[in-house]
Order: sequence, then C-alpha cells, then structure tokens
Amino acid sequence: VAKGAGKGQWRRYQAALHNQVLDRLELRAELDQAIADRSFVLQYQPIVDLRTGAGIGLESLVRWQHPTRGLLAPGRFIDVAEESGLIVPIGDWVIEQALTDAAAWCGTVAPGDSPYVSINVSARQFRDPGFVDRVLERLSTAGLPADRLVLEITETLLLGDDERVRHDLVRLRQAGIRVAIDDFGTGYSSLSYLRKVPADVLKIEKSFIDAVASHPQQRALVEGILRLAHTLGLTVVAEGIEEEADRDALVAAGCRYGQGYLYYRPMNHPDVLRWLADAQVAA
Ligand code: C2E
Ligand code: MG
Ligand code: MG
Ligand code: MG
Repeated sequence: VAKGAGKGQWRRYQAALHNQVLDRLELRAELDQAIADRSFVLQYQPIVDLRTGAGIGLESLVRWQHPTRGLLAPGRFIDVAEESGLIVPIGDWVIEQALTDAAAWCGTVAPGDSPYVSINVSARQFRDPGFVDRVLERLSTAGLPADRLVLEITETLLLGDDERVRHDLVRLRQAGIRVAIDDFGTGYSSLSYLRKVPADVLKIEKSFIDAVASHPQQRALVEGILRLAHTLGLTVVAEGIEEEADRDALVAAGCRYGQGYLYYRPMNHPDVLRWLADAQVAA
C-alpha cells in the first residue's frame, strides 16, 4: 500500500488480503476431496513445426473441475498444491492420465507419426522419492514408447546443483525419455549453466516471445539463446506465440518449434483425437 493511503484504502487492502488467505485455506481443504474424487481434467496444447504448422507433440495442462467455482486453471491451485505436498498425488494422476491418453493417440495415426506428450512436473514432485521409478512403471503400463514422452521441469529444480536430481535426470534420459526446461529465461540461471544440465529441449518463456518482432534487443537475446541451445544440441520450443509477426521473426531467427494461441488453444482429449484424425501431424 502506498504511503499516505487513506484509512479506507488500508481497510480494503486488509480485507482483500484476508479474503485471499481464506481462499487459499478453503482451496487447500477442498483439494483432498478433489484428489479422492479425481476432479481434475487434462487439456492438451499442440506444439507445432513453425515452418509448416504441423503438430509434433502436445503439452498436457491440468485443470480442476471445481464443484462450485467451475474449471480452475493451474494458476489458481498449483502453488497451494505444492506448498501442501498434494502436488505429489495430483502429479501422479496427471502422469497416469496423460500417458494413457498419449497411448490412445498412437493408435489413431500411422506408426512413427504419433505426437509426443509433454508433461509438466513440479520440483517438489520430482524430488519425491521413487518419482523416476513410478514414471517408468506407468510408462510401461500405458504401453507408450519412451521417446513419446517429454517431462518439463523448471530451473528451480536445477538450483543448488543437487546430485540426486542430476542422477534422476540421467536415469530418465537413459530410458529414452526427453527432458525439457520450461519457462527458460524467467529463472536465475545463467546461460552457461545450460552446458551442464542433462536436458534435450529448451522452452523459451512467453514474455520473450511476445517482444521478438517489436523489440530488436529482445530479438537479439532470443537469437543468442537459440544459437547457444543449438550448439549444445538442444531443441528449442517457443512458448505462447500469439502474433504472426513474432512467429515470422522466430522462424527467421532459426527457431523451429513453438506453441501458442496463434495455432491452437489447449483442447480436450476427444478433440485431440479428432485433430489427429485430420492428419495435421508431422512425423
Ligand atoms: P507452462 O507449462 O509454461 O504452460 C504454458 C501456459 O501458457 C499454459 O497455461 C497455456 O495454456 C498458456 N498458453 C499457451 N499458449 C498461450 C498463448 O498463446 N497465450 C497465452 N496468454 N497463454 C498461452 P495454463 O494451462 O494456465 O498453465 C499454467 C502453468 O501451470 C503451466 O505453465 C505450468 O507451469 C503449470 N501446470 C499446468 N499443468 C500442470 C501439471 O499438470 N503439473 C504441474 N506441476 N504444473 C502444471
Ligand atoms: Mg510447460
Ligand atoms: Mg512454460
Ligand atoms: Mg509457466
């Protein structure tokens, strides 16, 4: 609150804060039931080849089908789930569901044409003992080839140079699963740390992408990230592309893959099946 704000404004601020705290407590309390009832749904957003528009993969994005509040975006509940540790059972459900759905996609297209599924994993979830074992077990149960799975982690997980995290990433990659660094550019890490990270894919955060066409400095930064990533053998995916001008600038800069409302919004599993039937997927 700004200095000198009136008493009324201060009270309104306090009331809003109070409501926010209550809101979180309420959501926290309701999450247990939601997990028991499996009240979550997954939507999938296609990741495309920017030069052709053909799909190569789909990112799974969780939503909470709340009994009174409607469909809640992860921004409303993921941090509450992380704080409480409930992200572990929620994340387990996400992985199981996404692998099952992705295995169904494989059945609808020619062998080799199947898109991969890219699953978001919280740091807390990744650090939960047995995480890698559970992923490998679920993968074999679902019958999905390991190279059709990408796990998206964030820079937070990589902070602190944790040996066990490194070891787990290496284990996943040895099994043929790819690892993506999500929201690249928002964390604290320097470009040089990329050299040491066992990863395959780099996803450049939307705020960089939005300014690619209009801000020369931003474009230069993205070009630098692309050059370095490619030198290190990383595949780059641009996040949240909304404008054709940004897409064109990205292609000119050598970025091959991306996702965003310019192409597709997240869709339900049945719509993914219809989309695949229309054969808009590249091998
Ligand atoms: P993210 O992994 O970076 O996912 C991208 C977010 O950007 C998604 O929001 C997606 O719907 C949105 N998006 C995609 N294209 C556009 C665009 O062109 N414009 C705009 N304005 N937005 C776009 P969403 O679904 O609300 O998810 C938000 C975040 O929640 C995700 O960011 C991810 O960090 C987290 N999340 C989602 N699903 C899961 C999950 O299953 N587990 C975990 N741990 N986190 C998840
Ligand atoms: Mg993601
Ligand atoms: Mg992201
Ligand atoms: Mg994000």
